Amino acid sequence: MPRFNLSWLYMCIAGILIYLYVANGEGGMTKNISYTEFKEMVNKGYADKIIAYNDNTVDMFIKPQHVKEVFKENANRVGRSPSLHVEVGSIESLDNFMEKAQEEGKFTGEISYEKKSDMFGAFFWNILPIIVIIFFWIFIMRRMSGGGNSGGMNPFSVGKSKAQIYEKGDQTNRITFKDVAGQEGAKQEIQEIVDFLKQPQKYTELGGKIPKGALLVGPPGTGKTLLAKAVAGEADVPFFSMSGSDFVEMFVGVGASRVRDLFRQAKEKSPCIIFIDEIDAIGRARGKSPNMGGNDERESTLNQLLTEMDGFGSNSGVIILAATNRADILDKALLRAGRFDRQIHVDLPDLNERKAVFEVHLRPLKLDTTVDVDLLARQTPGFSGADIANVCNEAALIAARHQKNAVGKQDFLDAIDRIIGGLEKKTKIMTAGEKKTIALHEAGHATLSWFLEHANPLIKVTIVPRGRALGAAWYLPEERQITTKEQMLDEMCATLGGRAAEELFTGHISTGAMNDLERVTKQSYGMIAYAGMSDQLPNLCYYNNDEYAFNKPYSEKTAELIDEEVKKMVNDQYERAKAILSEHKEGHNQLAQLLIEKEVIFAEDVERIFGKRPWASRSEEIMNTETNKDSENNEEETTAPLSEDKEA
Ligand code: ADP
Ligand code: ZN
Repeated sequence: MPRFNLSWLYMCIAGILIYLYVANGEGGMTKNISYTEFKEMVNKGYADKIIAYNDNTVDMFIKPQHVKEVFKENANRVGRSPSLHVEVGSIESLDNFMEKAQEEGKFTGEISYEKKSDMFGAFFWNILPIIVIIFFWIFIMRRMSGGGNSGGMNPFSVGKSKAQIYEKGDQTNRITFKDVAGQEGAKQEIQEIVDFLKQPQKYTELGGKIPKGALLVGPPGTGKTLLAKAVAGEADVPFFSMSGSDFVEMFVGVGASRVRDLFRQAKEKSPCIIFIDEIDAIGRARGKSPNMGGNDERESTLNQLLTEMDGFGSNSGVIILAATNRADILDKALLRAGRFDRQIHVDLPDLNERKAVFEVHLRPLKLDTTVDVDLLARQTPGFSGADIANVCNEAALIAARHQKNAVGKQDFLDAIDRIIGGLEKKTKIMTAGEKKTIALHEAGHATLSWFLEHANPLIKVTIVPRGRALGAAWYLPEERQITTKEQMLDEMCATLGGRAAEELFTGHISTGAMNDLERVTKQSYGMIAYAGMSDQLPNLCYYNNDEYAFNKPYSEKTAELIDEEVKKMVNDQYERAKAILSEHKEGHNQLAQLLIEKEVIFAEDVERIFGKRPWASRSEEIMNTETNKDSENNEEETTAPLSEDKEA
């Protein structure tokens, strides 16, 4: 049953208006008269035209000059063609009367006979297009307002917020801090908010004001939404969740009215939490868009949000949490005291945190005894919480595909491989020549990373196509917070090793190195223009966080200098790569040959050819202990891919 709401009223009014419009267009005033009066008027010669219907009724139209006498109304009040409505005894008697009147010259107009139902037909055909337009309009509105996801969606609720609500006391979906692994710092900061919600009087009695909002800043998938939900779960208050992009709609004013609606709903349920994901969709700094005034809608939405945040008293118990991965592009007004004055950083998990996240997501899985959480955490540097959740799920799927009873270690390693590199494509057709080029290229990376002090330690090299990559070298990157110039240059040199090997040993260069070159170019621009690492432009950072900056913050001359420096840096490293490769030519060629034979080779194979790596680093020690520990297992299991290098 459709519920009654305001929209039905609108519909009725629209219907009445349409009816009036159509009825007016047809004619004008009508008046019922008796047959006697009718005869009288015909005899007086007032009749202009007569229509007789099959249900023994007659419409008589009056000559314009007599309208005033008959209707006793002003001509403009009676409409275009006023008529008189009469019930007659039978059509025959009417015929007789009319014939006589015509003979006597009292009626000279025309008589026509019509079927009554035609009237309705005519009416229907008149309004049909309007009905079609209305339905079309409703259809479009529905599509635009998100496609009737709640069933009761109608065009008049575009301005309603589409917030998802988690009621308090919902035990099945309740998320607490237990479900959020790691992130101890963030949890501690956010614990305060939980306390505010639980016992506000503790703070207000001392005259303190409860904060209105906190901004969770961090890369995607690190658990910002999860944390916000956990706050609601811990404090046991309702939770409104909405994405910043939900506010943005084609219609002007819709975003602002959604903000209003959201806050109205929240105030009714206070104390509660509003969570706005991706707040940068509306909170971007104002007045910076390139096409002037191009996004008034977003600005008015933001203004409304600011107004609402100022509008409610600090003790109303509504706390706003928002998530973004770029706090630097947000409007300053959002960040000032009294609004989102707290910023809580939610970073990618480190080794121990990854272990904790794995533990959370391994809980529901059926595992066999080979699974080692420690190893998994070590094999996934740079993974976010969401990536880890994905690994666990993917591993379960792989195990199921192999009809296993429990998920094993190899399933996890396969899952990690797959998430980093995409699916293996063993069937990709390749000529022997292509295969040789790819092998030389990958062996180039491997050789250089072996002999460069700061290059990431190698784990395995493969020429099995995976995803869009034709071959890959996997490294174990060090988890570090700052990077020195030497480290960056060594990495750049190792990345250029593929192209250098192609040039040296095949005599021609190929498109296979495009991906490498792109990375190198970007990196060197970053080093020179942003990190102040070039000799000609030392200690200068031209970083500009204004995303619409068309004016570069440096002169043409500097621009040329930057280009020069980039070219010089990349060339230097390329020459260095070629020199090292020439020096270790024999070993490199053996490596390439081995790759063609085995398709996958590991650090051990490289060691057998070149001898021990001159620079044994911390990460390598980890690798070695690992190899020993799992020596009873299949070799492949001990060396999972960690970071890769793709070829286009
Ligand atoms: P964000 O909002 O930061 O993009 P989410 O909170 O939506 O990320 O996280 C996505 C998923 O990743 C969560 O549902 C959860 O399964 C997993 N996840 C992320 N971080 C963690 C964590 N610290 N502990 C447990 N699971 C996590
Ligand atoms: Zn390469």
